[in-house]
Amino acid sequence: MLLIDKFGRAITDLRISITDRCNYKCVYCRTGNKGALYGELPFADYLRMSRVLVSLGITKIRITGGEPLLRTGVIDFVRNLSEFNADLDIAITTNGHLLADLARPLKEAGLNRVTVSMDAVDPDRFTRITRVPGGFDRVLAGVRTARDAGLGPVKVNCVLMRGFNEDQVIPFGMFAREEGVIVRFIEFMPLEEERIWAPETVVPLNEILERMAEYRPLVEISHAKSETARRYRFDDGIGEIGIIAPVSHPFCGHCSRIRITSDGKIRTCLFSVWDHDLHELMRRGASDAELAEFIRSVVQRKEARHHIGEPDFVPPSSTMVHIG
Ligand code: SAM
Repeated sequence: MLLIDKFGRAITDLRISITDRCNYKCVYCRTGNKGALYGELPFADYLRMSRVLVSLGITKIRITGGEPLLRTGVIDFVRNLSEFNADLDIAITTNGHLLADLARPLKEAGLNRVTVSMDAVDPDRFTRITRVPGGFDRVLAGVRTARDAGLGPVKVNCVLMRGFNEDQVIPFGMFAREEGVIVRFIEFMPLEEERIWAPETVVPLNEILERMAEYRPLVEISHAKSETARRYRFDDGIGEIGIIAPVSHPFCGHCSRIRITSDGKIRTCLFSVWDHDLHELMRRGASDAELAEFIRSVVQRKEARHHIGEPDFVPPSSTMVHIG
């Protein structure tokens, strides 16, 4: 009964956005202007969608946003998911601003892992990117509390953008070793509201490796095919980093993901130019079997790959803060 698309890819990972509000204005993501919000659904609706998807073979659920920790009720949502299926791998991606207070309750509710976005280890640079003062210390405290609460290994995601933080590669290498977290560098993708992406703004995988090699040699370690990050250990075995390189080294052929936006639409690819309104179907009174049938038909339309940087690239119909 697994969800298999027409290219033979098994869909096992769900990313579900529970809000498209955010308290940061990261340069690679939002303008910070009061843009249109797509909206949020009651948690009961996300829960029902998740249950149907789990019945179709989803084994991992990542809660995202916007900023998911802004929503009161996220702890109960995690608890409900884990009580529904104890084998489910439940993770959250957060900017970490509110994590220091929530990490332990989230762990107790059944959260398995957390990924924190952090784009500089230098407080001033961090603020230049997030465009919100005073966040650095809070995020660092969030990372440490999550690690100490057993939400590990904590992953720290850093989107690299030329002119903003490419010089943070080595400091992040040191950070990974000192803090016992996995730092993952992400190539900047054209998903931002401000439309500032250009090929030159991307810091590609090869350059990240070259920069890190000036600090310490890295050894590549194996990763699951559907994993987005290539993984590396430092030569002395202390510290791991990852590189997510969808621009220079696309991994669409092994994609196992499907997304639900905060307003209940399915997206089969970050770069989809259309989405599929699962919530509308629920609103019209569809049964679980009908929802499952709809999801199956949507998965058949999953795109073969993205076209970033190609002449025929069409910007996606939503930006990252709305997709999650
Ligand atoms: N607010 C949460 C956070 O900051 O992690 C969750 C939502 S955020 C949209 C999810 C992830 O997308 C973050 O790791 C963020 O760094 C990444 N992201 C956002 N815009 C991006 C872009 N244009 N290119 C690459 N990654 C991006």
